[in-house]
Amino acid sequence: MSEIACVSGVGLLMEYLDGALPADVRAALDEHVAGCAKCAAFVASYLATLRIVREATAATLPADVEASLRAFLRTRTSAFRSG
Ligand SMILES: [Zn+2]
Repeated sequence: MSEIACVSGVGLLMEYLDGALPADVRAALDEHVAGCAKCAAFVASYLATLRIVREATAATLPADVEASLRAFLRTRTSAFRSG
């Protein structure tokens, strides 16, 4: 497998965080994130945001809210790539 690019620079972030990736790809990304401060910070901020939203709603995340959150995070992902 070729070298894994930063999670924030590829389209795999959502799949990675959803656990929707094949085990070998996820393992490669896990290894990258563990050694990359930029990706670790991005993943941490995503997970923190999800926790805050879940605590605020105290229920399952409504589909429309989740869609909005994902759209927002995709914007941030693009910002990471260009920045
Ligand atoms: Zn990285």
